[in-house]
Amino acid sequence: MNAPAPSLNLLDRPASSWRAALDDFGYEPYRGDQVAEWVFQRGVFDFERMTNLPADMRTGLASQAAVAPPEVAQRFVSSDRSRRYLLRTGGGELVEAVYMPTGERATLCISSQVGCRFACTFCQTGTMKLQRSLSAGEIVGQVLSLLSDAELPPKRTNVVFMGQGEPLDNLPGVIGAVEALQDPAGPGWSWRRITVSTVGLVPALAELGRLGERRPRIAVSLNASTDAVRSELMPINRKYPIADLVAALRDIPWRRRERVTFEYVLLRGVNDSPDDAKRLGKLLRGLPAKVNLIPWNPIETMPFARPDQDAIDRFRREALGSGLDVLVRYSRGADIGAACGQLQAAHDPSVSPTTVSAD
Ligand code: SAH
Repeated sequence: MNAPAPSLNLLDRPASSWRAALDDFGYEPYRGDQVAEWVFQRGVFDFERMTNLPADMRTGLASQAAVAPPEVAQRFVSSDRSRRYLLRTGGGELVEAVYMPTGERATLCISSQVGCRFACTFCQTGTMKLQRSLSAGEIVGQVLSLLSDAELPPKRTNVVFMGQGEPLDNLPGVIGAVEALQDPAGPGWSWRRITVSTVGLVPALAELGRLGERRPRIAVSLNASTDAVRSELMPINRKYPIADLVAALRDIPWRRRERVTFEYVLLRGVNDSPDDAKRLGKLLRGLPAKVNLIPWNPIETMPFARPDQDAIDRFRREALGSGLDVLVRYSRGADIGAACGQLQAAHDPSVSPTTVSAD
């Protein structure tokens, strides 16, 4: 008979607490630091391969705990070198994450939930129901899985919570992951390298604000300049309308030179008029804001269209003219379904590990 699966995924806790965890199991505390070094410096997750641990400790530990990042079920490689991953959690569900290299750096786009319950009408993930929230360990595990699958380890990594799910609908998992990524005994990343993107859950935003120096960067998916349009696109706006959202953001103690990012998906004839751009400028006046315009990535079944290039340029000029710091962001990985809003993990639990290349 197989031994029962260990119940403790060490990744659910920040690495500096692994000393205490190993102490509880009867090992010397410094062993916790050794395990953390294997995991975060060398990308080794299997105790059996941690050669500076005594042999009996390796087998003993494996029956008590695990370092269990999600498995790569499938990898899609884009012609622009970004990679979309289908990852299988310990519970068997599939989630998606995207690896986007730029020179020696990489940005990882990771998921906070399996599915999503906010049903934004232009978003592919919004057509799924929420299955469940991911644990801190499952979120940190996505980072580890992608980095250990990279051809060349990047010199610097940023992570954005812009995959599946609404991060602020999973505060315990997301805050746990953010703390684990910042832990000096683990990855030791600064808050600057971590961005949490939200539909704008007002009470949870206030809670993020209370994290103080540990708070990650914040991005808000605004996507409209009036409540009427925003409520059509993002049903959550009926509960937390634009004025409440902006007020909550004004209350956050922004750090020196820090800015909040507003994402604005451009939809032809819906939210892309010059008047929208002007109203956007007014709405955000006085906030330390920058705006990312994302031309909508088409999803066949949806009644939307991406504006033509002239309309995109006109919107950008108008927004600049109204005092906004604005950039147009063209999504990467569109050829492999990795672009913003396209993520929807296949539900087929039998997918086997394969690589599909787009070129
Ligand atoms: N729930 C969070 C995290 C998801 S981030 C949030 O909404 O912020 C996903 C980003 O992609 C959001 O800014 C969303 O507005 C955008 N998006 C969704 N569908 C898109 C699509 N089809 N094309 C372009 N951007 C899209």
